[in-house]
Amino acid sequence: MLFFSTRGNSEPKTFSETLLQSLASDGGLYIPESFPQFDFRDFQGLGYSSAAIKILSPFLEGDQLSKELPQICSTAFNFPVPLVELRDSTSVLELFHGPSAAFKDFGARFLSSCLRFLDPTVEKQILVATSGDTGGAVAAAFFEVPNIKVKILFPKGRVSARQEKQLTSWGKNVSALAVQGDFDDCQKMVKQALQDKKCKAPGVVFVSANSISLGRLLPQVVYYATACTEYFTKNGAVPGVIVPTGNLGNAVGALWAKKLGFPIRHVILATNANRTIEDFLTSGNWQPHPTVATLANAMDVGNPSNIERVRALYLNISDLRKDVSAISVNDEEIRQTISDGPKIWGQIWCPHTATAIFARQKRKDPNWIVVATAHPAKFETIVEPLIGQEIEVPKALAEILARPSGGWGRGRGRRQMHR
Ligand SMILES: *Cc1c(COP(=O)(O)O)cnc(C)c1O
Repeated sequence: MLFFSTRGNSEPKTFSETLLQSLASDGGLYIPESFPQFDFRDFQGLGYSSAAIKILSPFLEGDQLSKELPQICSTAFNFPVPLVELRDSTSVLELFHGPSAAFKDFGARFLSSCLRFLDPTVEKQILVATSGDTGGAVAAAFFEVPNIKVKILFPKGRVSARQEKQLTSWGKNVSALAVQGDFDDCQKMVKQALQDKKCKAPGVVFVSANSISLGRLLPQVVYYATACTEYFTKNGAVPGVIVPTGNLGNAVGALWAKKLGFPIRHVILATNANRTIEDFLTSGNWQPHPTVATLANAMDVGNPSNIERVRALYLNISDLRKDVSAISVNDEEIRQTISDGPKIWGQIWCPHTATAIFARQKRKDPNWIVVATAHPAKFETIVEPLIGQEIEVPKALAEILARPSGGWGRGRGRRQMHR
């Protein structure tokens, strides 16, 4: 399998080659040359890691990592991925049971497992822009991996205290830089560094760990495939999925899973007040807006880069509208959804998941899977006052939060973060 640039102006590459190159040389994003067709019935009752191997194999066919795939998948996907049935023919897909308590663990752990096997003699410098959660997942996945260094760029003052802790408490091969700017600025800096040949010392490769990397995106196909198969098997109906969205990485996973033949009726993209995507689906014109800060900060993206991959799947806007709708949810609606959560659903939602739940509450038609992208304990300062109770912190997250703060860029020493 080869991967092509969305801009069609650079050489096709194998999966491993795209990992080391991140962005295509024409500035586009890599997409698969074709989508093999699966019969979802072959997946009924299969464990997560086995399903992942089966789905990802064709994409790694002919690649140097292909024989390592079983080991990569069993190392990366070693935590539960429950599909929890709620009321009103609605299920929630909990993607927050990995080490950093957000769905980014799937991509980060897969990418990390892949890179360990790729040419150990070259030093890899991972660059990652984060609006909150990616950096934490990448740090946890790459901490103490030999020959790999990680630099995390995050927008200063725009991540939650617990998110910041997850970015800055590592040290050793992982360092975090607070950028005076927003996520789009961080992302721009990473993209520039990736393309600037002068930036690199000899013998070092820069590798992106953002969702421009196929290593982050491809594994995100798997949970849509397994969850929708499970839903169909149990309920005899094809579910739609509602995805909290910022940079459209997670959403591309859903659209690719649909394209591979898995039973997905429709995809709803739920954004926060950054409404670029909803405006695009309404008007047909892609018009990025400046980023606005919201309660769902990991989705504060005004110019979602994966739109190139979404557009590459569809000939025109009316085809896209058949499969995809979008809804922008403001902070007031997020707050209301969180405070109603225990009463209506018996659940505590994180602010990101709340956008998708809000979208579900707006629909009259049945059979939806709502994607829960983070554990609410990561955003306790927002959620706890709204629900009037304390949220229990999952064990893996508690371990990270118990680490001493510090581990900032060189020369700043260790210091306590008070925010
Ligand atoms: C990153 C993130 C999102 C948005 O994911 P994209 O792939 O950027 O669309 C949503 N929710 C949480 C909790 C996140 O960390």
